[in-house]
Amino acid sequence: MSTSMTRQEFLRSIALGALSLQSVEELATQWAPEKNTMTQQNDTFSDVIIIGGSYAGLAAGLALGRSLRKVLILDAGEPCNRQTPHSHNFLTQDGQVPAHLGAVARAEVLQYPTVRLRRLWVNMVQAIEGGFQVSGAGAEVFQGKKLLLATGVKDLMPDLPGFAESWGISVLHCPYCHGYEVKKQELGVLANGETAFEMVRLIAHWSSGLTLFTNGPLSMEKAQVEKLQAKKIRIVETPIRALEHQAGHLQNIHFVDGSRQTLKVLFARVPFTQSSSIPVELGCALTEQGHIQVNDFKKTSVPGVFAAGDNTSPMRAVAAAVAAGTMAGAMINHELIVEEF
Ligand SMILES: Cc1cc2nc3c(=O)[nH]c(=O)nc-3n(C[C@H](O)[C@H](O)[C@H](O)COP(=O)(O)OP(=O)(O)OC[C@H]3O[C@@H](n4cnc5c(N)ncnc54)[C@H](O)[C@@H]3O)c2cc1C
Repeated sequence: MSTSMTRQEFLRSIALGALSLQSVEELATQWAPEKNTMTQQNDTFSDVIIIGGSYAGLAAGLALGRSLRKVLILDAGEPCNRQTPHSHNFLTQDGQVPAHLGAVARAEVLQYPTVRLRRLWVNMVQAIEGGFQVSGAGAEVFQGKKLLLATGVKDLMPDLPGFAESWGISVLHCPYCHGYEVKKQELGVLANGETAFEMVRLIAHWSSGLTLFTNGPLSMEKAQVEKLQAKKIRIVETPIRALEHQAGHLQNIHFVDGSRQTLKVLFARVPFTQSSSIPVELGCALTEQGHIQVNDFKKTSVPGVFAAGDNTSPMRAVAAAVAAGTMAGAMINHELIVEEF
């Protein structure tokens, strides 16, 4: 792979899947700074600062780079799907390794000479005259006219040994992302109450061999229990002690009474929080569920602050994050145009 590759050659190679992950990573890290005309010093002032450089942030960066905007993307490099071996349901990239998706996205976006990306955890954002000031660990301070929060969310793992290690590998959150690969297999659902009924009903579409683990006394309406029984869904109420796994691949569920059950796949939902306190500190309104409130144009309740991706929506999918980021990029550019023209 040569960094003298032209833009068209690069795009064609990516489309044909002809570049290895290593080659794409090299392009993302080496090629862009060579081609970018913004100097390190010029990172200080941007039209737009994007916090979070994963699917939503990079999609916005692409739209803004193509709109000739000076963009600084600050990213800690920890997308929520980083532990899952394969990402599904994103058109043209179905089954792709998440790290590869991210590397291709960075290489594509950083071709645009006015876009820069820094590995940095942002811990301070404040409104200043005409925009925002942002900083992380270290003395550097960045200023931008507009701010996009593409920070995703943080999934909160339960205090159950083996759960976090298996998250995204054999403990799965979403059948649209990972259901097809485990269809018609013996599956488990870890949930209780109304969530349990909804999840069982959903997952049963992919497999009828289903066990509901309530991890304590079942809490469900009688009519719902009868429906589960009619569908031959097994219900196990014994509290769980641990998930036994090999490198994240579930083997057995161990219960507090000393018994165990062999199981390869478990569906579970976990609570989340915003990745950081930045949205709240800026004064962005949140929804009841804890997402950043945005309008159709990805504007938050704070003038000049936009948000896109998982931090704004329960529809967690790469395609949805990319769509939201693309919309945010165009709307930020539009707002700047209206202010300038
Ligand atoms: C286990 C798992 C498996 C999944 N599998 C699939 C799948 O197969 N198909 C699918 O379509 N979707 C899948 N998803 C959903 C998909 O990964 C998300 O919808 C998508 O990653 C959201 O993109 P995002 O850019 O909004 O956030 P993320 O991808 O989560 O990225 C947020 C980025 O912001 C950075 N960040 C956060 N705060 C700061 C800060 N203060 N300073 C600097 N950087 C910061 C993070 O480090 C991260 O890089 C999966 C999700 C999970 C959890």
